[in-house]
Amino acid sequence: MNILILGSGGREHALAWAIRQNPKCDRLFVAPGNIGMAPLAELAALDILSGAAVVEFCAENAIDLVVIGPEAPLAAGVADDLREAGILVFGPSAAAARLEASKSFTKEICDACGAPTAAWARFDAAEPARAHIGKTGAPIVIKADGLAAGKGVTVAMTEEEAIAAIDEAFGGAFGDAGAEVVIEEFMSGEEASFFILCDGVDCLPIGTAQDHKRVGEGDTGPNTGGMGAYSPAPVLTEAIQEQVMARIVRPTVAEMAARGTPFQGVLYAGLMIQNGEARLVEYNVRFGDPECQVLMMRLGAQALDLILACAEGRLADAEVIWADDHALTVVLAADGYPGSYVKGSEIRGLEGLPADSAHMVFHAGTAEKDGRIVAVGGRVLTATGRGALLTEAHARAYALADAIDWPEGFYRRDIGWRAF
Ligand code: ATP
Repeated sequence: MNILILGSGGREHALAWAIRQNPKCDRLFVAPGNIGMAPLAELAALDILSGAAVVEFCAENAIDLVVIGPEAPLAAGVADDLREAGILVFGPSAAAARLEASKSFTKEICDACGAPTAAWARFDAAEPARAHIGKTGAPIVIKADGLAAGKGVTVAMTEEEAIAAIDEAFGGAFGDAGAEVVIEEFMSGEEASFFILCDGVDCLPIGTAQDHKRVGEGDTGPNTGGMGAYSPAPVLTEAIQEQVMARIVRPTVAEMAARGTPFQGVLYAGLMIQNGEARLVEYNVRFGDPECQVLMMRLGAQALDLILACAEGRLADAEVIWADDHALTVVLAADGYPGSYVKGSEIRGLEGLPADSAHMVFHAGTAEKDGRIVAVGGRVLTATGRGALLTEAHARAYALADAIDWPEGFYRRDIGWRAF
């Protein structure tokens, strides 16, 4: 079959790497993709936010399946357009993607189906929101309702910080995404991510992970898109996974189906775990980046069979064949990230690195210029290792990262510290 992946990051490189290994895959396209994927797939210049453009490309290239990586095309309804055109797609409708695109929508769903999450209230003006803080005190969490690229959330340790966050959102800092604000009870505990394929009716867990959001070692400094991840996450024990499926995920999927907006794709549940009890922090409606890299490294070629079963509504009969393994990925970012950074610096030493089922450097923000590989983004490469033990996966990932000659880049040395 011919497959099209939408997206251009390390997440999509990892999806392409896993899918390419499956003999069911004939032609593989990635739009727009990046230079690191060129050995695996044909890169297509395509406006991935335009459903019409994607449908047209599929018709021209006899595409049988579209895998949507990032949230923006999902929120824009590209999956709806593909389904309407009769093309198989992995990714939720715009209506179901609201589980990520609107925080208050997710909270309403949790309330409707009884899923445990932080107590919350919604506001569309600053004055009542400020008054609410006067009653709750701090710590408290302030969230712009819409998509704000991870920047719309403030975990306020004082009332002053909370008020400042409210004023920022209603002052227009996040555009329309901040026109409504959700104020949430602060939850303490350990965070972890749980990934579940859903075909609208049935669900299949495909792995757990923990990421590292802060830029600095010891989880210090500003938030980023993620500086590293590993899988599995020991805090998400079998028992807690079962609890999350029973109390949070299956009720959510049933509620979405009952509303006539079934969820089809990968549900990424961000969880807070304390004293053996899990509560939902957030849903994302796509794979995380860099969590996808560690999940794909562990699933390998079967990822395509699982994605197909999901897209075709056959998850009831699908199962994951687990190797008893671990994977860890380290993000190499440009100096200055997540603030302003310089583009165009040359990256050397990528040729000759091992590239197999235990070692992969996935590309995110790279391009080719005059025959050289240059950095063109903030997060640029993800060095990923797999092994029977987490220590092995860790050693392999860091051996790859250390072998890359890129003086203008940096990476955290402590990825995986919680598990060690
Ligand atoms: P991202 O896209 O970066 O995952 P987001 O903008 O979708 O983030 P959330 O995941 O809801 O927002 O929140 C970001 C982070 O803030 C969480 O990963 C968690 O660390 C913290 N956080 C959010 N809600 C709470 C809460 N109620 N209690 C404690 N911490 C919270």
